[in-house]
Amino acid sequence: MKALVIDLLARAYGERYTSYDVVGAGPRVVAGTLEYVGVKADLITYEEYMKEGVILDEYDIILFSAMSSDKIALKKSIERALKSNIITMIGGPISFEFYDILRSIGGDIVIVGEGELSLIKLFREYHKHLISRDYEELISIPGLALNLENKIVFTGFPEYTPVDLLNKIRAYVRVDRVYRKPWYYRFYVEVLRGCSNFQRPRINLGFNRNCIQCNKCTSQQLYIRLWCPKGIPPGCGFCSVPFHFGPPRSLSTKRILDEINGLIKHGARRIVLSAPDFLDYGRDLLVKPQPLTNPCNPPPNYKAIETLLEEIFSIPEVEDGLVKIFIENIKACLVDKKIGKILGTYLKNTTIHMGLETASLRYNTEVIGKPIGLKDVLKAIRILRKNKLRPYIYLIYGLPYMDEKVYRETIDAVPKLFKAGTEKITLYKFIPLPMTAFEFFGFNRKYNKYVQKLKNIINKYNLKAKKKFLGKNIEAYIVCSKKRMYGYPVDHGPVIFIYPRKSRFADKVCRAIVKIYDISPRYVVGKIMNIIECY
Ligand code: SF4
Repeated sequence: MKALVIDLLARAYGERYTSYDVVGAGPRVVAGTLEYVGVKADLITYEEYMKEGVILDEYDIILFSAMSSDKIALKKSIERALKSNIITMIGGPISFEFYDILRSIGGDIVIVGEGELSLIKLFREYHKHLISRDYEELISIPGLALNLENKIVFTGFPEYTPVDLLNKIRAYVRVDRVYRKPWYYRFYVEVLRGCSNFQRPRINLGFNRNCIQCNKCTSQQLYIRLWCPKGIPPGCGFCSVPFHFGPPRSLSTKRILDEINGLIKHGARRIVLSAPDFLDYGRDLLVKPQPLTNPCNPPPNYKAIETLLEEIFSIPEVEDGLVKIFIENIKACLVDKKIGKILGTYLKNTTIHMGLETASLRYNTEVIGKPIGLKDVLKAIRILRKNKLRPYIYLIYGLPYMDEKVYRETIDAVPKLFKAGTEKITLYKFIPLPMTAFEFFGFNRKYNKYVQKLKNIINKYNLKAKKKFLGKNIEAYIVCSKKRMYGYPVDHGPVIFIYPRKSRFADKVCRAIVKIYDISPRYVVGKIMNIIECY
């Protein structure tokens, strides 16, 4: 069998509108899973797929990996596939919306949730039924949604993929065949799957989901936290990761190193160690055989994290600085002096993101289900700064039950966050996602006056923090799009808009020194001073 996997992530209406340099891990893991069961798999980008020259007839099946925000791009992709009568499958974070997808967008099968177990069963045991479109035979495989004679059938949620299996599947690494200029992309490499926050919003959520204060989700017995008698999904009320992926399972150092080495061999120069919380790495081993369902206790597994970083930084290309390593998100309650020192030893000058959401500990704990407050975040920022790391903070607005008091506290916290050493605050708008505690809530439009105040103060401080870039020379990868020229700092940081756009770089990616001469709250502006190397 031969399959084609399409990386549709963040293609929204058919074009990326932000984070042009990000390549999520999902499509590479899907292609790797297919290869694991002996299916020949090619991986291409959405842009490549939509070109006329791509011949679909040589494939038996096509799999799209997409997010909720990619519905229009998915629709266009399915329409293109229909011309070839090829079997289409859809997976990724969009999969929980299987009903809408199959009803209004189309496609043959949706792989719901984690895909490994469903794909393996499907391709190993049911491939004949799949190829002959004998879909009724597939209903015994968990994790599928199908359209059977105009009736949507969901076969139930799959089990979480066991870590032994995650370690056996080798993610697709031949990225130079897929992404034309692999140098500048940030390739996400999964180091662990799942999230450790199994606390929940302890409020009245309606729809028969009102918390009865049974305290199971804060129990000291970690396995008791897994189930809520009222069926409230675990984790922060706005996030589906704990439901989607379960408690953390750390991949082996060997498995991670193999993937990084493979990516480097195929041209990758920027690698993100991807995890909902990097500090959960190896923490699951500290509580084994219980599931890791407490976000703040025990403390990090210092030894596992240090060993992982030490081994990664022993790869010659990483050691000599040709390949840059980043981490993304961490939880503030796990940051202490010891972990700060370890992170600073290896990741100096790189950015690290922490979610504060709001500055009210009471609101965060009781309403969001996240037992982390301003005090934890300020302490973590200071520790990270002391170790030459660059903290970025997430806040969110428009959440259910956010009131004037919560907004006021959050607005007051902004100067404190910057004073402690924050480099940037990103303010997100709440969007209800399926399989979250807040899925049935709309965006909270009350308190617009405070939302505007919050936006204004964040813009003001983000702009002020960017002043330090003015006049600086930054090493960056420069890339030309149709209209613009962008610079992506080698050590990560704000996107650089480069003027004037030089068309002679249109088909290249170059490493260059860029001088910053203007700033805005969200980006900086620069000009090329010196080209170091072109690809
Ligand atoms: S959210 Fe669920 S598990 Fe937690 S206290 Fe309320 S009812 Fe109990």
